[in-house]
Amino acid sequence: MERLQKVLAQSGVASRRKCEELIVAGKVTVNGQVVTELGTKVDSTRDTIAVEGKPIGKQQSVYILFNKPTGVVTTVSDPEGRKTVIDLVQVKERIFPVGRLDMNTSGLLLLTNDGQLANGLIHPCHEVDKTYRVVVHGSITDDSLKRLENGVLLEDGMTAPAKVKLLARSSKQSAFEITIHEGRNRQVRRMCEAVGHPVLKLKRVKFAFLTIGKVKTGEWRRLTAEEVDRLY
Ligand code: URA
Repeated sequence: MERLQKVLAQSGVASRRKCEELIVAGKVTVNGQVVTELGTKVDSTRDTIAVEGKPIGKQQSVYILFNKPTGVVTTVSDPEGRKTVIDLVQVKERIFPVGRLDMNTSGLLLLTNDGQLANGLIHPCHEVDKTYRVVVHGSITDDSLKRLENGVLLEDGMTAPAKVKLLARSSKQSAFEITIHEGRNRQVRRMCEAVGHPVLKLKRVKFAFLTIGKVKTGEWRRLTAEEVDRLY
């Protein structure tokens, strides 16, 4: 027997958190009965589980590395009708993004229907390294780069130590790479603002050991079985 939200997430309905919301909202039935209690134990091989009346099927797990363009939102569906990452990655399974990139951030985003892997990767306990290529306004000093590296004070506390590598610097703008393992909302943008250099361009180039490689902006590829094993 397994927890209902786990079975839902593993079958690709949505992330574990979203599945919990669906349960609490009374949208999930087990053998025809609405279940609103989180943690209800079910037998996924015997019980008939449905979300909004649709029985969940056994799905193949899918893992996609997407090179997100700017101008699309990282959600499954957007109430404001804006284009989402799911509109650009059309597969038959119900996938969802692992974590989030801002609308104006481009680069590497994983998409999957494997709730367990997604939860593991974004859980604060084992947050993975993420590398961003950043272009900021102004000529950034070595001192400011050191501050980004050591940690800066944001509204939600000090940031953890980061790795920073300067790529280019002119009087108008500067480019560098920053590797962080936390995943706070708009973290890189807020860190750069905190040291007085608003972000002009932000692209994620690496997530854990995965790099964008040859995947062009707006394109995607499936992860190999070896890559999936390494992420687990
Ligand atoms: N940090 C940001 O500020 N934005 C992102 O999209 C990702 C990290």
